[in-house]
Amino acid sequence: MNRSFSRTVCFLLMSVCLGAGVLCAQQKAAPESTAMPTVIPVPLEAQPSAHFDVEAATRAYLNQIPPEAKKRSDAYFEGGYWLQLWDFLVGAGISLLLLNLRWSAGLRNWAERVTRFKPVHTFIYWAEYLVLTTLLGFPMTVYEGYIRERQYGLATQTFGPWLNDQFKGLLVGLVLGGILVVVLFGVVRRLRRTWWIWGAVVVVLFTVFQALIYPVYILPVFNKVTRLDDPRITGPILSMARANGIPAREVYQVDASRQSTRISANVSGFGRTLRITLNDNLLRRGSPEEIQAIMGHEMGHYVMGHVYSGISFFGVLMVIFFALLRWALDASLKRWGERWQIRGIGDTAVLPLVVLLGSIFFFVLTPIMNTQSRNTEYEADIFGLNASRQPDGEAQADIHLAEYRKMEPGPIEEWIFYDHPSGRTRIHSAMRWKAENLQLFTPPALKEGAPSGVESGPPAAGSAQPAPKAGPKP
Ligand SMILES: [Zn+2]
Repeated sequence: MNRSFSRTVCFLLMSVCLGAGVLCAQQKAAPESTAMPTVIPVPLEAQPSAHFDVEAATRAYLNQIPPEAKKRSDAYFEGGYWLQLWDFLVGAGISLLLLNLRWSAGLRNWAERVTRFKPVHTFIYWAEYLVLTTLLGFPMTVYEGYIRERQYGLATQTFGPWLNDQFKGLLVGLVLGGILVVVLFGVVRRLRRTWWIWGAVVVVLFTVFQALIYPVYILPVFNKVTRLDDPRITGPILSMARANGIPAREVYQVDASRQSTRISANVSGFGRTLRITLNDNLLRRGSPEEIQAIMGHEMGHYVMGHVYSGISFFGVLMVIFFALLRWALDASLKRWGERWQIRGIGDTAVLPLVVLLGSIFFFVLTPIMNTQSRNTEYEADIFGLNASRQPDGEAQADIHLAEYRKMEPGPIEEWIFYDHPSGRTRIHSAMRWKAENLQLFTPPALKEGAPSGVESGPPAAGSAQPAPKAGPKP
């Protein structure tokens, strides 16, 4: 490794530390809240009546969002469109820098000086590559993951703990990415003609492995996962799980509020690592009906085997990608290989080129991947409505999710950028379901003294006890 390269790395490290100091000094500014109303009552138009109108009920729910909050979350989400483009351009720029300044070849030479034993050499190259690209992309990461999140009131962390999480992420990436890169280069070096097929197989198997270990081994690196012991909450959820044939005996809680105000939940892992997890933001802010609607949706993913269809879809994309990669690598190395000092496709120095080609492929395919995801999310919504029978809980959840999602996009916008149906589509589906199941809901006129809140909904499917309150609400 030459001197000027080492000097550049030192300079980068210094500017990162300096930037961190400035941010620590600035972080006292309190974020403005973008929070949606905590209690979202069932609007008059969405209450059961002889003239229940799906469109009017949907619009009434959408109108519950204060105009200021809508403006902010629209701006946040639309800014995200541009960030996708900037992330792509910055990533591509970093790859081109590593290739054209022959830094990648330098990293390889450095790793070769330590050892020529291929797997260890590859791992050392990976460690160098990961640290250097993380440093180069750091200003963008700080803006996107810290400054912007705080500007919009979505982050709860100060800079120190945030940086600590970034560091942990780097270590996880070092280990997991290292395993993948070592195996992939091993495949390329041994199977000179068929590596592109086996490479796709390796990436797919690795993705399955990651999904398998995530809830039990990776999530706890960043957050505290505890068993949820409140039977008033777990009762209806586990009952809904049993009713839908999901072999879960426990519900877990994760302290997502450590990082963010976002609500979410999931059913993750497979087989022995399968688990239902709720985040504490949802537990604190969601009504029981909302929690049940969200859990119904998550259970839909599990029952309809979306993990498997997602992996199959990803597998097909991977085979196409690797076939194109093989062709593009050959063509680029023939043309620029000498200039970049890359010896061939089995040379670790080729990695930035692979990353560049991968980012182009997946950037172009963004709308296709979002559409695949959006379709399965829509299916899970419909499953969730049938399983939980909580259309108002669903609408309430959609309004809470609107803190960081634009509710009413245009059709092309939704097609390109949305990996979930838009809030409007989701509330509309819920109200459509409600319109066909009005008999399940006690007309408010018959329920004397009952507040016009979502509490008028029925208990979840298979739930023995009435839905309880989720917890203290301001
Ligand atoms: Zn989902």
